[in-house]
Amino acid sequence: MMPFFQRITRRSLELGFIAVGFCRPGRPPFFEEYSRWVSAGKYGDMQWLQDHRDLKADPGNVLEGCETIICLAYPYPSKKISTSDGFTVARYSRPEDPDYHGSIKKRARPLAALISEEYPGARSRICVDSAPLLERGFAYTSGIGFIGKNNMLIRPGHGSYLFLAEVLTTALFPIPTVKPAVSMCGTCSRCIEACPTGALERPFFLDAQKCLSYLTIEKKGPIDVGTGKRMGRCFFGCDICQEVCPFNRGPVETIESLPSIDTILHMDQKTFENKFGKSAFGRAGLEKIKSNIRAIRESRAG
Ligand code: SF4
Ligand code: SF4
Repeated sequence: MMPFFQRITRRSLELGFIAVGFCRPGRPPFFEEYSRWVSAGKYGDMQWLQDHRDLKADPGNVLEGCETIICLAYPYPSKKISTSDGFTVARYSRPEDPDYHGSIKKRARPLAALISEEYPGARSRICVDSAPLLERGFAYTSGIGFIGKNNMLIRPGHGSYLFLAEVLTTALFPIPTVKPAVSMCGTCSRCIEACPTGALERPFFLDAQKCLSYLTIEKKGPIDVGTGKRMGRCFFGCDICQEVCPFNRGPVETIESLPSIDTILHMDQKTFENKFGKSAFGRAGLEKIKSNIRAIRESRAG
């Protein structure tokens, strides 16, 4: 009979995940680096990163009695998403689709069901960027990719346009021994050079307070005109350090999924919620999105 981890792998691939890895819980890789980064105060308004630091030291805090972690990667399209007048948003935000947190969790549920069938009484928890867990570190340990100098998990042969998910379970079953993938960045430093704000201060070290992904989504309140200048035409998130990465191969194609920025600026709350309320794009809120667009406009007018 096929080992259980192979059955999990096969089912994961059937469910559309493109990479599956396994590891045991324990002190997450890169926890010390993460802890130093938090101490350096580079997290901006994202206070939860400070509050959750100690919880992240042990996956047992996310699922008591955790014995096995299944790491999964699900791809999102590499096409750039644009408005009808050529402004863009981060690829992962998928304005027309349900928020990935819920949809990827749903996709992984049959794996938790499979575990319950095989190990009755086992408890499992599915995490998608939603629990105090160092996801990229475990993904790396499980062998599904390496961490690039831009801090993204890169899967050779696919790149970094990936959502990560984990199934933590109290079921203890044999898993393959894997060697974490060695970094393949080599002497490349394209992401660091291309970052418009200098947020990638050095390899693997991001000052979130300077990062456009943080400033245009998480930061409370409007952003300044100086930041607007650095945003180019992208008013939600930033993909530059991924776009320039040689592991994200292929031409940059664009798909028009949003109305013009003028239409968004005149949109009322109800229309916004009806159209985008369930998407990752909608999570930033209409006022934040409008203020991002205004910052770009004002920087162009100045
Ligand atoms: S997302 Fe943009 S601003 Fe943030 S580090 Fe990458 S290139 Fe720099
Ligand atoms: S752009 Fe170069 S240095 Fe940056 S993550 Fe990709 S391969 Fe690594």
